[in-house]
Amino acid sequence: MSTAWVTLATNDGYAIGALVLAHSLRQSGTQHALHILYTDGVSPALRAQLTSVFTASTLVNVLDSRDIANLALIGRPDLGVTFTKLHAYRLTQYTKAVFLDADTLVVQNADELFERPSFAAAPDIGWPDFFNSGVFVFTPSEQTYHELVELATSQGSFDGGDQGLLNQYYSNWRELDAAHRLPFIYNVTSGAIYSYAAALKKAGKDIKIVHFLGSAKPWQKGAAHAHVGTHWAQWQSTFDSNVAQTLP
Ligand code: UDP
Ligand code: MN
Repeated sequence: MSTAWVTLATNDGYAIGALVLAHSLRQSGTQHALHILYTDGVSPALRAQLTSVFTASTLVNVLDSRDIANLALIGRPDLGVTFTKLHAYRLTQYTKAVFLDADTLVVQNADELFERPSFAAAPDIGWPDFFNSGVFVFTPSEQTYHELVELATSQGSFDGGDQGLLNQYYSNWRELDAAHRLPFIYNVTSGAIYSYAAALKKAGKDIKIVHFLGSAKPWQKGAAHAHVGTHWAQWQSTFDSNVAQTLP
């Protein structure tokens, strides 16, 4: 069984996020490979860093949703590029993989995710009957890739990004066995929309993967943000000790 964590970067900002994520995965002592998908929007200096830190890398084309109307609706025209995420399904050298957004940070070993059935994801906190597509367990498959592209071109995505498309494709996710529904500790988006301070106090030590969802990303210096302060600081310290000195 061949397995990998997979992430994506289409520009230098997300590439820095991916580097910090990779270091956090190594620090967690993961036994799984780290695979980066990147596009020609990443500068040569950052590409060199990605290929040295990740176990494997693949240069992919930007797959845009061309669904400008819907994207404008949610105010995030940049999200069209997340359709590029679909390339993860083409990594059929792996029998099981876990996709992580480049704006996630692994704060504790989460290798048990690979024991989950495919497809598995955590609820989106804005609308918990849909899953958040920043962390998901999947089985790479050319057939699934083609079905997703076909769905994207025939129907588009209801939110213009990959999350709407994947939720449309796995539309019975909410009805699946509990094993397909990841606990919130694997995709903690607290701060983005709503947070439950007492729950964070009680369960914060169990968190395994933090997700800096939303427009403020930790690689944007001095960004005003609503993320949990300790999580933001943990990202910064991983950056300072592993990535900062490797940048041009
Ligand atoms: N992404 C990218 N370039 C972009 C936008 C997104 O490489 O310009 C990738 C990156 O892996 C990112 C993921 O797509 O983490 C999803 O986008 P983002 O995390 O910004 O969305 P959010 O989680 O805030 O909804
Ligand atoms: Mn994200």
